[in-house]
Amino acid sequence: MCGMDMILSDRCQGRLQSFKGDRCMKKQGYTLGTRKVAIIGAGYVGSSIAYALALRDTAREIVMIDVNHKKTDGEAKDIRHGLPGIGTADLYAGDYNDCEDCDLIIITAGRGRKPGETRLDLTNENVKIMKSVIGNIQKNYTRGVILIISNPVDILTYKVAEWMGLPNGMVFGSGCILDSSRLVRTIADYVGLSTGVINGYVVGEHGENQVSVWSHVTVGGIPIAEYCTDVGLAWDEQIRAEVAQKTKVMGSEIIAAKERTHYGIATCVCQLADAIINMRPTIASVSSVLMGEHGCREVALSVPSVVGPSGVQQRIREKWAPEEYRGFFDAVENIRGTLSKMEGK
Ligand code: NAD
Repeated sequence: MCGMDMILSDRCQGRLQSFKGDRCMKKQGYTLGTRKVAIIGAGYVGSSIAYALALRDTAREIVMIDVNHKKTDGEAKDIRHGLPGIGTADLYAGDYNDCEDCDLIIITAGRGRKPGETRLDLTNENVKIMKSVIGNIQKNYTRGVILIISNPVDILTYKVAEWMGLPNGMVFGSGCILDSSRLVRTIADYVGLSTGVINGYVVGEHGENQVSVWSHVTVGGIPIAEYCTDVGLAWDEQIRAEVAQKTKVMGSEIIAAKERTHYGIATCVCQLADAIINMRPTIASVSSVLMGEHGCREVALSVPSVVGPSGVQQRIREKWAPEEYRGFFDAVENIRGTLSKMEGK
């Protein structure tokens, strides 16, 4: 024996021979047991989520599933190859059998908006895709929370909740978490402070009928109007409207510039995934089927919610200003209208 043969014991050599090269498409007969995440749809959004989760070491096992298995395998390997130095995640391209025993299943399959389209324009096409994805998941589902990212997220969250028939909140959508993050970013830029001291939410539709809840925005725990008066910054209806509008069109502006958005949502998903799989409950404005909150049911929309290991565990019934309620009820009507017009329902 010489060289490598001398260094490797027989057992090691046996393992090397049974190792199928670099493919790693599936686990090799062992299981890590917990903190397992499946991502369905390995396009820009799904791959960015996988990358973000792997970098943050949020999950132990991440399986990526997509109709385009070859590309998915490439995406998985590209992420996996850089991890040895920093992460422990076992990340691979798999199939729907791998949805078994997941703590979290994230669905990003579906077409994105083209410049000029609204999210609701994707309804009929993405509902069909979602139906086939859910059919495959149902054959292999054993447990875990289902998080919808594909658009229109409020419509798809409602339909998936109906199809899966799980306890309320175990299916929920990313909803307005990204819009809320954009709002906080915009306010922080306006007041010239770090985002960490700004608290604020966008509620309602992840789309045209989103509502910035100004009555609850705080800067360092102080209501924003009071803060601005105190430090001599202008704060009035026109500034609020400008900030809300800027927040609303941020997604379309990015799509006009680069045809898609994916990093922002991937970062937001890390907060939700951490809450679910690492049991670090958080509060975020996400979409789930309402059960009488603000007098609404049979529709999925975003309200500030406690998110933890079983998904949306509670929706917070905070009181809003009259114009905020009006905006929220417009969103309810808009989403209900789209649900009632949907092809094939
Ligand atoms: P993409 O085209 O890059 O990826 C979509 C992927 O879905 C593709 O890889 C495609 O092969 C796959 N797919 C299609 N049908 C499938 C099926 N039946 N089963 C499995 N996989 C299937 O698009 P993207 O940029 O990644 O966007 C994905 C979705 O996420 C879009 O609907 C987009 O609007 C949405 N999105 C949501 C948010 C949010 O805040 N909720 C933000 C950005 C994008």
